[in-house]
Amino acid sequence: MSSWEENIRKVVPYVPGEQPKRKDVIKLNTNECPYPPAPEVKELAEKMQYEDFRLYPDPEAESLVSALSAYYHVPQDQIYVGVGSDDVLSMAFLTFFNSDLPVVFPDITYSFYDVWADLYHIPYRRLLLDENFRMVKEDYFGHNGGVIFPNPNAPTGLLEDLDTVEDIIRNNPDVVVIVDEAYIDFGGKSALPLIDKYENLLVVQTFSKSRAMAGMRIGYAFGSKKLIGYLKDAKFSFNSYTMNRPSLELGAASVRDDAYFRETCARIVRTRERVKGQLKELGFTFPDSASNFIFARNEKVSGQELFDALKAHGIFVRHWNAPRISDYLRITIGTDEQMDALVGFLKEYLKK
Ligand SMILES: *Cc1c(COP(=O)(O)O)cnc(C)c1O
Repeated sequence: MSSWEENIRKVVPYVPGEQPKRKDVIKLNTNECPYPPAPEVKELAEKMQYEDFRLYPDPEAESLVSALSAYYHVPQDQIYVGVGSDDVLSMAFLTFFNSDLPVVFPDITYSFYDVWADLYHIPYRRLLLDENFRMVKEDYFGHNGGVIFPNPNAPTGLLEDLDTVEDIIRNNPDVVVIVDEAYIDFGGKSALPLIDKYENLLVVQTFSKSRAMAGMRIGYAFGSKKLIGYLKDAKFSFNSYTMNRPSLELGAASVRDDAYFRETCARIVRTRERVKGQLKELGFTFPDSASNFIFARNEKVSGQELFDALKAHGIFVRHWNAPRISDYLRITIGTDEQMDALVGFLKEYLKK
C-alpha cells in the first residue's frame, strides 16, 4: 500500500440489489412497489415548473414536512426528512451513535447498518436472532452504545409486536433507540405514538416501498423535539440542501392521496397472502412476513441454484451468501401477474 493510502477512511461498501438495464425482466429483487405512485403525483409532475430548478430548494423542506405533519398528527419540529431513509439513517448513526460501547442490532438484518458503523468508526455488536429469526429482546436491554433494528425486520419480514418494541425502548433510557419502519405500512403497528413517551426514540420511515417512490429518494423520521433538533444540527453541518425540489413537492402530493396509498398497500398484502399459500404447496418454508416480500427456502433445492435458475429465466430475486441465510431467497411481492409467472416457473422447475 502506498503511504498516502494509509490514512484514508476505508470501508467495504453496501451492495444494493441489481437494477437491470433490460426492461423485460420480472423485477422482484429490491422491494419496490409494482404499482405507480399516486395519481396526484403524476398530475403535479406534468405541471412542474422546470424554470424553478435554477433555485436552491427550501432547506427546511417545509412543503413536505407540513404534509407529513398533517397526515401523522405530529408537530413539524418533531419531523426530519432526507434523501431516502438511507440518508436519514446514515445521519442518525453519525449524530446519535458516538459512544465507546457497541451499538447493537440483529445478526440478520439490513446490511447497511454495519457499513455505516464501519464508515463512522462506531463499535457495534450483532445480536443473534433465535432459531425462528425472532429477536431475543432481553439481549438488547442496556449496556450498549445505541440500538437499531428494522420492524418488520429485513430480510426476514418478521414483525415484532409493539409491546416487545416498547420493552426494548423502556430498557434503554441512556441511549438512542432507532426503529427502522421501512415496511410498517404492510400490516404492522408503528412505534410512532411512543415518541411522546420516550425522548430517545427515533422512528424512521420511507416513501420507497409503500408509497412507490423509490426513485424520488424520500425518507423521514419522527422523534422528540430535542432529538430531531440534534439531527438537524448535524445535517446543517453536513449539507443544507439534501432534498431536491421535485421530491419535496411530489412527496407532499403523495401524502395527500391517502385513499390510493391504503388501496395499494392492501393490494400488495392480498397478493402476499395468496403467494404464501402457493409457495407452501411447492415445499417452501418462510417466516410469516408482514412486509412486501417473502423470505423463503425450499426443502430440496439450494438458494444459489434457485436464484440462478430464476435469473436465467428473467426473474430477479435477492440472495445472500451469508451465514444462516444462504438457502433463502428474498422475493418482493409484485403484481398478481408477476407472481403467477414466478410460481408457474417454480412449479415446473421443482418437478425436474
Ligand atoms: C429499503 C430499506 C431502507 C432504505 O430505503 P430508502 O430507499 O433509502 O428509503 C432502509 N431500511 C430498510 C430495512 C430497508 O429495507
